[in-house]
Amino acid sequence: MPMRFRKLLTLLCVPILLSSCIRIPSDQGTDTDGGGSEGKDPFVSYYENMTYHYQTKVDEEALLTGLDTAYLVLANKTSPVGESYTPEDLVRLDNAVVVPWHQTTGLTLEACAAAALYEMLDEMRAEEVTDIFVTSAYRSYIKQQQLYYQYLDNELSTISEDAYRCLGYTYIKVNYLDQGKTQLSRADAEKVVLSYSAYPGTSEHQTGLCVDFITEDMGGNLTEAFEDTAAFAWLSENAYKFGFILRYPKGKEDITGYTYEPWHYRFVGREAATDIHFSRLTLEQYLENGTSH
Ligand SMILES: [Zn+2]
Repeated sequence: MPMRFRKLLTLLCVPILLSSCIRIPSDQGTDTDGGGSEGKDPFVSYYENMTYHYQTKVDEEALLTGLDTAYLVLANKTSPVGESYTPEDLVRLDNAVVVPWHQTTGLTLEACAAAALYEMLDEMRAEEVTDIFVTSAYRSYIKQQQLYYQYLDNELSTISEDAYRCLGYTYIKVNYLDQGKTQLSRADAEKVVLSYSAYPGTSEHQTGLCVDFITEDMGGNLTEAFEDTAAFAWLSENAYKFGFILRYPKGKEDITGYTYEPWHYRFVGREAATDIHFSRLTLEQYLENGTSH
């Protein structure tokens, strides 16, 4: 979809989101009159009533208090951001939060997402969850393109474990092994790559609004083992308070187009994140709900 049209759609959908997509988290016990105090945005006054018990001194401005279309941008397989999309304000992440193997070249993130990330990691440390690092942040279109073709070369050279997982043993046996073939066709190789990597222009990392977390004991591999870490347990409870959502939840593969990724967190701002967290919607559903009412 052309950028201008996408922007227009997003702008159109936000007022509807404001009016129709807000659910009151049942365990907040918050009574909102919907009107708020005089002169105040009802949405903002509702969130002002939510009480969080931060251990650290949190700069709530950094958590993006209020919906902002720029932070609700959708990048997925059916809604690519395109080749020219670049976040406006990228900052280099402090190496203290970056895995050692990326510290020389560094990782970058959109400025507001980075500020919120720091607030979140400070709070985690205050609660003694210290084993957590960022292993992936902003990725340019060009970088995603390089990765994609590198993965494709790999899948074309040998039938990988990912190929068996994606295509199934029977399919590979009938179409390749029984015929003495040891290399996948290009179409099959592409299918396998797309099961774990994004086609250039469709990666959410191109928005500069998401990070992949990893812990020291994961040996450098992003796997579902992240689910068993203290960091994951903490994020599951608290990430939304800092504007982050688990972007590819379990059981939502049909909607997000991605298998479960417990390590991938997306910044949308605290308002949207809170709503998404308690409603258990994906970002796709959250945005779609806004446009369908
Ligand atoms: Zn990711």
